[in-house]
Amino acid sequence: MSAAFHEPTTIAEAVAILATEPDVCCLAGGQSLVAALNTRSFAAPTLVSLQRIEELRGLRRGADGSVTVGAMTTHRDVARADCFQAGQEIVPQAAAHIAHPAVRTMGTIGGSICHADPAADYPGVLAACGATVTLVNARGQRELAASDFFVDFLTTAVEPDEMVTAITFPPMPEGTRGIYEKFCRSEGDFATVSVALILGMHDGRCAFARVALGGCGPTPVRAPEAETRLIGSRLDDDDISSASNLLCSRAAPQSDVRGSAEYRLMLVPRLLVRALDRARRRP
Ligand SMILES: Cc1cc2nc3c(=O)[nH]c(=O)nc-3n(C[C@H](O)[C@H](O)[C@H](O)COP(=O)(O)OP(=O)(O)OC[C@H]3O[C@@H](n4cnc5c(N)ncnc54)[C@H](O)[C@@H]3O)c2cc1C
Repeated sequence: MSAAFHEPTTIAEAVAILATEPDVCCLAGGQSLVAALNTRSFAAPTLVSLQRIEELRGLRRGADGSVTVGAMTTHRDVARADCFQAGQEIVPQAAAHIAHPAVRTMGTIGGSICHADPAADYPGVLAACGATVTLVNARGQRELAASDFFVDFLTTAVEPDEMVTAITFPPMPEGTRGIYEKFCRSEGDFATVSVALILGMHDGRCAFARVALGGCGPTPVRAPEAETRLIGSRLDDDDISSASNLLCSRAAPQSDVRGSAEYRLMLVPRLLVRALDRARRRP
């Protein structure tokens, strides 16, 4: 059983508890944390449920085209949102790929990124979009780039007295297309490998490219040199093959129940080709 259970109704109340209780953690949708508690692999901490904090829910489109998503927004609500434009569309696409309706109804974007499973759907999307994460504690607020937020396997830069309040996706250039390509063993499973792609074409040549891999290392994998290789090219077989090699050279996949490291590296070029094809065909 948990040592104590708090249900604050404001962020200020929540961070005050995080600042004072010694062994404490946030409870969001419970889809990962409750499963971990059920295994009894660690002592139950004091739990701060975020369920009653209304200011943590919902999506807001800014005047500059950025979209800010509250940490307690469920996967279902992200998947249904219509405020994402151009390449940002990979965000709702990825949310729709998470697990099954029951998990999507309870699980939250904040909980997912704080759990930081490298096979999860959001981390690669945050990396490809260049999203920023807002963290708050009793002393103030800070913003972290996705590249600094994900630190290692199941490890983030969130300090024990901090909580994530929101994730902001910057605007993507007009005309860009976002494609989220996920390879998994069965419907609803975590990704063996995922590719988050944002692509812009102009006069038959690639004008904008952002690619991130999930399931290919402890944190999402980006290779700016692979994006540079694609930009300006006609996306011929050679261009895609070179970009895939550059991506794979940055990947450090582990072998696990979802596939061997070699298998994952074999999937990367295939998923990249598929994502590029889909992005180019999209009206
Ligand atoms: C059967 C099943 C299948 C799944 N399949 C997939 C899948 O295909 N793809 C995928 O991406 N995910 C999958 N998941 C995981 C799912 O997306 C979870 O919803 C997610 O990992 C955790 O979100 P949560 O809101 O439930 O967080 P919780 O389980 O409540 O919390 C997870 C962790 O984050 C911390 N935390 C939560 N919110 C905050 C916050 N705001 N600030 C600081 N720390 C916080 C908690 O303390 C805990 O350590 C699956 C889960 C299940 C049960």
